[in-house]
Amino acid sequence: MREGLFFMMAALLVFGACQSKNESPKDIAGHVIVIGLDGWGTWCMEKGDAPFMKEMMKEGSYTLYKRTVRPSVSGPNWAAMLNGTPVEFSGIKGNEKEPTFKPIGLTEHNAQPTLFHLLRQERPDAETGVVCEWGDVRNYVDLQCVSYEKAIDNPSGHPESIVEESAKYIKEKKPLFCFIHIDALDHAGHGFGQGSDEYYAELTAVDGRVKRIVDAVKEAGIYDDSIIILSSDHGHEGTSHGGDSTNEIETPFVIWGKGIKKGHEITEPMIQYDMAATIARIFHLQTPNSWRGVPMDVFE
Ligand SMILES: [Zn+2]
Repeated sequence: MREGLFFMMAALLVFGACQSKNESPKDIAGHVIVIGLDGWGTWCMEKGDAPFMKEMMKEGSYTLYKRTVRPSVSGPNWAAMLNGTPVEFSGIKGNEKEPTFKPIGLTEHNAQPTLFHLLRQERPDAETGVVCEWGDVRNYVDLQCVSYEKAIDNPSGHPESIVEESAKYIKEKKPLFCFIHIDALDHAGHGFGQGSDEYYAELTAVDGRVKRIVDAVKEAGIYDDSIIILSSDHGHEGTSHGGDSTNEIETPFVIWGKGIKKGHEITEPMIQYDMAATIARIFHLQTPNSWRGVPMDVFE
């Protein structure tokens, strides 16, 4: 009898040990939707009429002081948000398809290990997608690791197509991870300048598009199990960017949804590649040695 009890306890101990070894920690959320707003500078948020975005800042966690990597142009900044590495490693210093200088830490696809790459390695069947208005953004996602990609031509001709394409994809596929890129604010910045009435008008229009994409997440029935992120690559100074002025290098970051602190202002410093590290934390992904980002303290 005593012997039987001993074996039973020993078996339970071994079983318990195996369980904890094989158990993968549960994802913080079942879906992460990133909406990237090209050329969305922090400078516009004080006076700007963007009711939905401002409501979501209260609904979740945010900072208005996320730093760009240098230079403050699109390529290196979208790349860093998705590949977790500083420019010194990625070599992505401009908007060209190829890195400006020799990169290190490349995968078998001759690309930086992006979030899409990590997900493909750890979750080969996971649905991941990119829907973008600036097609070149696809240079920074490692397309071989993406389930779905769609670039929309001529967004200025039909600015609602980004909403329609994103909504269709989200409702049909309910992706684990999706990156949506909206280019309109960058066009307004280049065309009319930082501080212009036209830029502010475009901000309000983009705010509506963001809301309609979030409505699609709700219609897909996955909103309660999702984390949604708004981010940006750079601001503007006058009608250009690429320099080091505060208007160019400070951009907002907003995150809300399942497991995210509400009404929380992120006070610690944040730089673009921290976004990749924060998303990796949501899915408990193993990050490569070349990654330098820090997950933000936004989780409940
Ligand atoms: Zn840009």
